Amino acid sequence: MEPVATPGAAAWAAMLVRMDDAATLIGLDPDVHTLLRRPRVVLEVSIPVRMDDGRVEVFAGWRVHHDTTRGPGKGGIRFHPDVDADEVTALAAGMTFKTAVVDLPFGGAKGGVRCDPTKLSLGELERLTRRYTWEISPMLGPDRDIPAPDVNTDGRVMAWLMDTLSMIRNEALPASVTGKPLALGGTRAHSGATSTGVVVCVRAAFAEMGMDVEGARAVIQGFGKVGGPLAFLLSSAGMRVIAISDVGGAVYNPAGLQVAELSQHVAKAGTVAGFETSEPITEGEMWALDCELAVPAALDGAITAEVAERFGARLLVEAANGPTTTDADPVLERRGIRVVPDILANAGGVTASYFEWAQSRQGYAWDEDLVATRLRRTMETGFTAVWARADALGVTLRRAAFAVALEKVAEAIVARGLFP
Ligand code: NAD
Repeated sequence: MEPVATPGAAAWAAMLVRMDDAATLIGLDPDVHTLLRRPRVVLEVSIPVRMDDGRVEVFAGWRVHHDTTRGPGKGGIRFHPDVDADEVTALAAGMTFKTAVVDLPFGGAKGGVRCDPTKLSLGELERLTRRYTWEISPMLGPDRDIPAPDVNTDGRVMAWLMDTLSMIRNEALPASVTGKPLALGGTRAHSGATSTGVVVCVRAAFAEMGMDVEGARAVIQGFGKVGGPLAFLLSSAGMRVIAISDVGGAVYNPAGLQVAELSQHVAKAGTVAGFETSEPITEGEMWALDCELAVPAALDGAITAEVAERFGARLLVEAANGPTTTDADPVLERRGIRVVPDILANAGGVTASYFEWAQSRQGYAWDEDLVATRLRRTMETGFTAVWARADALGVTLRRAAFAVALEKVAEAIVARGLFP
């Protein structure tokens, strides 16, 4: 691969490498392949915001539709200082394939604003969100593109987004966003859905690999919206979560971290670092720990070839988007470490989003059991299809997941034909 200038460019280059590889693997129609190597729409906007001190600051934002053949665009909105067009495009393409793997009737979209939300007041964050929504509003709507939360965005941001769009169109549009508060038609069981989906994959992979969940050791990178609930779910499934890292450091306890106490510590300290019943370790040391499971649940690019060489877990389940670099893939494969790829492993979030969208359109809220049962079934079906394809083709789960996804997208593109 050519040297690349930015992390965003690296993410898009990695997406192309994996797409091209799967295209060759399944003998993809070259016209379909050409179509999918470019995003359908990349909208770049400037977002002027009146700051609390009276000055105007202009932020850069993007909304990207990668492919919308299988349905309206679906994908989160990320607020982060490193966001750029390439990163958002790579994430949008990831959504095209993720929604295809678990067979949701959506296309791939993603949005981002380059900003540091920790430096914004609540008022500034709201004005930024509303103006960004207005700027990208031609792309949005329940049948066009339905945003959701991602890194540094949450239900509150989604509520502002929905309100802004509803005001612009002068109609109630609850199905225009997902991950919104329950009071606005959000779904039950949305907040832990990504982590729940990760656990479905963990259980299924453990069963395939002949490993016991009870007593197994796990390490997790990230203790946010995904990593936090995941740590709870894994320890209540009987696992020992022996190390967790976040932006402030990493903590280790070979007997298993007390997740509820750790959570209270994080609520006060803002980081896992300094947690009393643990020892500090570096993130590098954490990845090298001898254990059964490792879950990256922070930002992309965490598992490099170098980390992969020292990786101590037998199974890597990608809760984050794009956590493994393309040169780490062959190292993990050579070392016999199974990898459940992001487009399958973290699809629980978009699956719950699909259920929320369906409920908002129906105007009828499902109970928690129905959401949980359907979520588990969707994830299990996706996992089984990918595992079976990996066995049939004799390839990694990542290559199999891309193969399954590309076939579904290609079938839809061919069925619709080329307009005009
Ligand atoms: P979040 O912002 O809630 O949490 C991110 C966590 O990562 C925090 O604990 C943060 O401290 C930690 N972190 C940041 N930089 C780090 C670093 N350099 N080293 C170690 N830890 C670091 O974000 P989230 O919603 O939990 O998302 C995490 C990942 O999961 C992202 O890749 C996101 O795209 C992906 N994802 C999230 C969802 C969802 O439902 N939220 C769904 C699918 C995929």
